[in-house]
Amino acid sequence: CPFCHGWEVRDRPLAVLAQGERGVHMATLLRGWSDDVVLLTGGPADLSDDDRARLDVAGIPVDERTVRELDSAAGELHAVVFDDGARLPRGALLVAAELRQRSGLAAQLGVKLVATGPVSPEAVDVDPLYRTSVPGVFAAGDLCAQMPQIAAAVAAGSAAAVSVMASITEER
Ligand SMILES: Cc1cc2nc3c(=O)[nH]c(=O)nc-3n(C[C@H](O)[C@H](O)[C@H](O)COP(=O)(O)OP(=O)(O)OC[C@H]3O[C@@H](n4cnc5c(N)ncnc54)[C@H](O)[C@@H]3O)c2cc1C
Repeated sequence: CPFCHGWEVRDRPLAVLAQGERGVHMATLLRGWSDDVVLLTGGPADLSDDDRARLDVAGIPVDERTVRELDSAAGELHAVVFDDGARLPRGALLVAAELRQRSGLAAQLGVKLVATGPVSPEAVDVDPLYRTSVPGVFAAGDLCAQMPQIAAAVAAGSAAAVSVMASITEER
């Protein structure tokens, strides 16, 4: 995440490994932290003319070579190594990962899930009062379709707690 990790790796040579619009989005965001950002697509780049124009303006080159390995030591990245053996020295690499729930609790409770997007493909569906499709089950935070940030999770958790209390009070 450029917001969560950008500051720590500022001014280093950086790379983003991602395809399509998401790669362009991540690379241009990261450009705010470093003048040297390369977009690695790990194969033929799936980029529109508009995407390429935006990258050009931001001074972000696109490298389509297949990434073979990351050369690192003691948790620090030194270089991205391509299939052809060439090395691209980099101080950090941002990877387009998917966010998935590790816990099966939501599925086990039978709450309705909704498709969201490429970052977090499935989320628990909640209404504005944080009620799920199963009566008495509320949800808030990363497992819902909200921005995955601590402040957002805390705010949603607080509002959901009020909703739970109101629900219990009504029942009583
Ligand atoms: C590497 C990384 C860096 C990040 N950096 C930032 C940052 O700088 N700033 C920022 O705002 N956000 C950051 N985030 C995002 C932020 O951490 C999340 O948005 C936030 O923690 C979501 O809170 P949550 O309570 O919804 O979920 P979580 O923090 O994931 O909490 C869910 C908890 O439920 C527990 N749990 C799961 N299943 C069960 C079960 N069956 N029984 C009991 N407990 C269970 C888990 O162990 C976990 O502790 C980062 C995320 C990651 C992964």
